[in-house]
Amino acid sequence: MRTKHWYDHLWIWSIVYFALGFFNILFAWLGMIDFLLPLMIAVFGGNKWFCNHMCGRGQLFHLLGSSLKCSRNKTTPGWMVSKWFRYGFLLFFLTMFGNMVFQTWLVASGANSLKEVIQLFWTIKVPWGWTYTAGTVTDWAAKFSFGFYSLMLTSTLIGLAVMLLYKPRSWCTFCPMGTMTQTICKLKNKEESTP
Ligand code: SF4
Repeated sequence: MRTKHWYDHLWIWSIVYFALGFFNILFAWLGMIDFLLPLMIAVFGGNKWFCNHMCGRGQLFHLLGSSLKCSRNKTTPGWMVSKWFRYGFLLFFLTMFGNMVFQTWLVASGANSLKEVIQLFWTIKVPWGWTYTAGTVTDWAAKFSFGFYSLMLTSTLIGLAVMLLYKPRSWCTFCPMGTMTQTICKLKNKEESTP
């Protein structure tokens, strides 16, 4: 049996992250670690060590789907693992991320005011005002928190839905972070093998 490491329990971090954001939205900024760390490992290490060992979300899907048997464990549909879908979803996700940054900029420039809501599936506005006291930080920093938490929660809910319907880690087949790190690793390894 494989020896357990501290990073095998990072699924707890996934739960703690959303719980913290339920009480104070500013904790959403901590999600940037999950955003930047896999990219840095891929860029400097040329591998997917983060996905294979450190991703709390992937571990959570595995735990719920495999160990707790919450998944139907059906084969992930072919279209979901196809290249066009993976890259299409990445493009969509990056566009939504860019829009979130743009909305943050609008608040920073004074063109828009801060709204204390999160947005699920990029459309459903959910009041989330109890998690923030106006004036604690600059409006743009709070706006980014609401936006980033929305993105993290939406992607986790999509991941949970596909976990229930298909294999526990079906989300990983089209996860934007996974697609990005895989592309970086491929490019990097190609570069290194070129004489
Ligand atoms: S593909 Fe995404 S969810 Fe899956 S392990 Fe990698 S970063 Fe985590």
